[in-house]
Amino acid sequence: MPLPADPPAGTTSPIATIMLTDWVAPMRRALEFARTAGSAGDVPVGAVVLGPDGAVISAAGNAREADGDPTAHAEILAIRQASATIGNWRLHGCTLVVTLEPCAMCAGALVLARVDRLVFGALDPKAGAVGSLYDIPADPRLNHRPQVQGGVLAEECSALLRAFFAARRRRRSGVVPVDASDSSEEPPVR
Ligand code: ZN
Repeated sequence: MPLPADPPAGTTSPIATIMLTDWVAPMRRALEFARTAGSAGDVPVGAVVLGPDGAVISAAGNAREADGDPTAHAEILAIRQASATIGNWRLHGCTLVVTLEPCAMCAGALVLARVDRLVFGALDPKAGAVGSLYDIPADPRLNHRPQVQGGVLAEECSALLRAFFAARRRRRSGVVPVDASDSSEEPPVR
């Protein structure tokens, strides 16, 4: 999977100076929440919100099954928690780090929340709205355009999803899981 281009040159945002490798640690944190979500039966997607200083403000895993809520994607939950924590719906200076390319709802939410930057792991060719089906953060008609960095730990994020769906298919077909790390399947849809 090709890595997306580097952030645009010449930007004046202070967070633009953060190196790509700096996203690995928060992505690993997001992966922890993704794994926890997967263990609970939800599609394993995790997200964290970092403040302007890089500190983790909030973190969440996908909880659609756990909460019985179609909007309980990891990004939405993490954004809500972050806003509650800082007492402001505007997440100026903040970075959302998520294991999977956001869908249209979540990409819209991070624009509404005025998140400065989105960092994601795996592409979602079937539902992604940050380049795959749509490119909401780059749409010049909207009043806020977060910077985007994709492809951080993409293979790890993608493998987690593939293993989850492979195991679920085996359970549904009555076949006992033998190797949940099988990565021969196509990437899933959320
Ligand atoms: Zn979403």
